[in-house]
Amino acid sequence: LTRLYAPLTALANVRVDVMTALVSFERVFEVLDLKPMIEEKPSARTVPAGGVSVEFSDVRFGYPAADRYSLASLEDVATLDHRGGEEVLHGISFRAEPGQMVALVGSSGAGKSTIASLLPRLYDVDSGSVRLSDVDVRDLTFASLRETVGVVTQDGHLFHDTIRANLAYARPGVTDEEIWEALERARLGELVRSLPDGLDTTVGERGYRLSGGERQRLTIARLLLAQPKVVILDEATAHLDSESEAAVGEALTHALSGRTALVIAHRLSTVRAADQILVLEHGEIVERGTHDELLAAGGRYATLHATQFAEEEPAVA
Ligand code: ADP
Ligand code: MG
Repeated sequence: LTRLYAPLTALANVRVDVMTALVSFERVFEVLDLKPMIEEKPSARTVPAGGVSVEFSDVRFGYPAADRYSLASLEDVATLDHRGGEEVLHGISFRAEPGQMVALVGSSGAGKSTIASLLPRLYDVDSGSVRLSDVDVRDLTFASLRETVGVVTQDGHLFHDTIRANLAYARPGVTDEEIWEALERARLGELVRSLPDGLDTTVGERGYRLSGGERQRLTIARLLLAQPKVVILDEATAHLDSESEAAVGEALTHALSGRTALVIAHRLSTVRAADQILVLEHGEIVERGTHDELLAAGGRYATLHATQFAEEEPAVA
């Protein structure tokens, strides 16, 4: 089983849905015979040393068919066309210099999370390119990509494993002391201390059930430990109440300093400080600039901004 496990983990990132559909060993082999959609090239290299830039050049992308249908059987996977999904990103271009923060705003379904998923190569672009320090992500090793890009999403993806393992994954060899420090900063120390098995508590689908906010804080703790050079926050504080949002937000701001960041937030107040704000609509960038520039331009962003403050006012009063 150990031998099987290694190739499976290589695929796990991208094919979780298929993996969870596996019911028998025969099927495992069938899947391993398939050509994975995301492959590491034999000539793959690592991200150059130093600060890391992020660049999207005329990126077009549609979700592969395998993601759009629920699969009746694994035989279906083999016959599916991996390309040709309806295009959801129509020529996205932007660049973040090392240490800069680019924010993505726009209504639900505009394509923000899709953009975020292309950077760690959960999917490959249909055309154009995604580059880290001017190297196409398709030319990088999985290990280097994983080490360089840290992601905190709304769902807070965890492995079915202990809390310690979920955090140590971020930085092999990490000490318990460092783990506790990260848990405290993510406001999770109290909860974990209260669990009978503490750091050895198994979490995930069949383990201890963490709430959405707790899962999110655990992935934030993982990010604080990993200190990746590129950070993606996709509505990273969406599940938190305003008190923990303020506290965790502070830890996140600290974690972002000096790193290149792609930040998606529905609260416009969190993206104010971005070096560049991209306003996305139906898979296209319709406006870009700093907060002040976009307000002065009086376009989409200014409207979003006005709407949001009108909505938030009653809550503040
Ligand atoms: P946002 O994050 O801005 O709300 P998304 O990037 O999640 O938007 O979605 C952009 C478009 O892609 C939407 O039309 C959405 O329905 C579609 N989409 C998102 N995820 C998937 C998926 N896994 N399979 C197929 N279509 C998807
Ligand atoms: Mg989203």
